[in-house]
Amino acid sequence: MNISFNKLIVDRTAYNDPLTHRLKQKLPDAAVEIVPDVTPFLHPHRTSKESLVITHQKGKFIKDFPGATGTPPCSEKCITTLLNCPFSCSYCYLQSYLDHRQIIVFSNTERMKEELKTVLTNNPPSRITTGEMGDSLAIDHLTETTADLLPLFKDTGTLLEVRTKSTNIDHLLHHSGKGSSLPSTIENSDRLLVTWTLSPRNAIKKEEHGAARLEDRLNAISKISGSGIKVAIRFDPIIPSYFTQVEYEEIVRSLKRVAKNRIYRFELGILRFPPGLWENVRSKYPGSAIMRGEYHRDTEGKIRFYRPTRVKIYRELHRIISNHFTDVPVELSMEHNSVWQDAGIPIPS
Ligand code: SF4
Repeated sequence: MNISFNKLIVDRTAYNDPLTHRLKQKLPDAAVEIVPDVTPFLHPHRTSKESLVITHQKGKFIKDFPGATGTPPCSEKCITTLLNCPFSCSYCYLQSYLDHRQIIVFSNTERMKEELKTVLTNNPPSRITTGEMGDSLAIDHLTETTADLLPLFKDTGTLLEVRTKSTNIDHLLHHSGKGSSLPSTIENSDRLLVTWTLSPRNAIKKEEHGAARLEDRLNAISKISGSGIKVAIRFDPIIPSYFTQVEYEEIVRSLKRVAKNRIYRFELGILRFPPGLWENVRSKYPGSAIMRGEYHRDTEGKIRFYRPTRVKIYRELHRIISNHFTDVPVELSMEHNSVWQDAGIPIPS
């Protein structure tokens, strides 16, 4: 199901930007309100997922992932093309990071691209993702951000990583949508990495509100990997109360069937709560299964699951993945070197 909006709230400074024109063309039935300042629309009680705010990013577009003490160096950066997401995962860290749920798209893409060119020339990471502040693909058929950025990665050693829980991929495979004026993404597809987050069916049903079903994500993985585009898998977050070896083994077996030997990497991360998120989830989803079990606050203020259980889960999942995907790298997300070692997962050099 393609996500749509019934209203565009356009910052006056963004009105003439190509991305604003594209969104107006693609959403011909949406009401357009031009405003001198979008701030009043970001009030927590005023925000609506039916409307889209279009404005300019004033700060930097590209940032490093915050490293934690004693974790392996991160070889990825993130680019903030939008803020927020049409889905409502109960564990979403954006709930504690932002004080509103309004989806915002940044339309000053020329400055974004200049910044991207500089990073790709002077300080290229192995990957740059658009999926840190929202799902990369959920509204990509409207923004065409992936198609817009991909040509800049041509002949670089960096991959553009889109992260998703959606099945919104058709525009990546057939780039001929109404209002489109961009080159086919498929032409630069060797620089694209599409990463799906996967979870057991019950976790998706109960905790990933609005996101695609497991079967539908597997079907989308099959189509993308069949087209030759690289696919990666994130088991992040793994929610301990939903973890069973049987279900994860079934998912990994399904991946072997749909993507054969074309998975680029796996990333594993057990649910953790940055400051503020625990309290947020408790008040919004009282009694939620995601908070079940033995959690502790670590020295950096994050709430994490009991370490020996984390190690056990990583060890089991690593074994399952390695049995089916012998040479595919498995990496941990935001875990101390000692956890990698105890789980028997090689630290990347
Ligand atoms: S898909 Fe990602 S960004 Fe969107 S609600 Fe879920 S966790 Fe948050």
